[in-house]
Amino acid sequence: MKAWVYKSTGSWYQVKTEAGDWGSARIKGKLKLDESTATNPVAVGDEVELEEEAGGENLYMITAIHDRKNHINRQAPGQRMHQHVVAANLDQALVFATLREPKTSSGFIDRYLVACEAYHIPAIIIFNKADIYRSKETTLFEELNHLYQDIGYRVVLMSVHDGRGVAEVKEQLKGKTTLISGHSGVGKSSFINAVFPERQLKTQEVSGWSGKGMHTTTFAEMFDLPFGGKIIDTPGLREFGVKGIEKPELSHYFPEMRKLLVHCQFNNCIHINEPGCAVKKGLEEGTVSVERYVSYCNILDSLDNRTY
Ligand code: GDP
Ligand code: ZN
Repeated sequence: MKAWVYKSTGSWYQVKTEAGDWGSARIKGKLKLDESTATNPVAVGDEVELEEEAGGENLYMITAIHDRKNHINRQAPGQRMHQHVVAANLDQALVFATLREPKTSSGFIDRYLVACEAYHIPAIIIFNKADIYRSKETTLFEELNHLYQDIGYRVVLMSVHDGRGVAEVKEQLKGKTTLISGHSGVGKSSFINAVFPERQLKTQEVSGWSGKGMHTTTFAEMFDLPFGGKIIDTPGLREFGVKGIEKPELSHYFPEMRKLLVHCQFNNCIHINEPGCAVKKGLEEGTVSVERYVSYCNILDSLDNRTY
């Protein structure tokens, strides 16, 4: 039978069947061996096939994983070469930021956007805590709003505290699987609690599903939204994704640069010192913003220092 993975706790997975029943599942030995590079072959958001396991109620074996639309990774601790797939089959990501208490740097927003681009996950940028913006932050918001909308991102000004923008974001979540991302302290939990007050209750309800492995750190957890759609929260994951990007590949994940790449003289141009660089020309002409170019250079530098 078909089911979806809502939570992974070590070798046990919390699943919900097509019929809406909760259960615990583990992987059939064979399936585990087939996956050589991933330390966890099944991820939150995966669509799987189950077989009932003898000797327990709502205990299942995962016999197959359906093809993924996309997925995000984190590096498995101590195993640089092994990827830990955190979540799969995402329709979009909410990238949470704030301009006060604490201010999210543009560099950080851009890192998240690059990761989303690299994983083919459309991103929506949320500027939360609008209730405490002074004129300084409001002006900055207007600038960033323009900047990111010009590139093609949807931007929402929100305040969980006074409710501004919450309905708009909620509308965006309907019928979709959404990754909630951003630094700690930006209001992600507050937002989730505001749109999903029943969550606490639901979590408790399903915690009796077998109890196995419940103490294990989880990196992602999926919830059904009462108004349709799912959210994937990744409390144990602050950053994902830019690891493993090759330097000449980076500009492909800046949509405004991506458009210009065909005009660079060299097809492996990294847009720093090369002659005939269309990105540098764009920077001079204003089609590429200075802020974004600085972010690009910073991320490029950080890739430089990595060993693959
Ligand atoms: P998380 O770490 O991203 O999950 O952030 P939290 O939801 O825990 O929020 C961090 C802090 O920011 C808490 O003290 C919240 O009350 C506060 N906060 C969340 N949303 C807002 C908002 O819209 N306006 C203001 N002023 N504070 C907020
Ligand atoms: Zn170039």
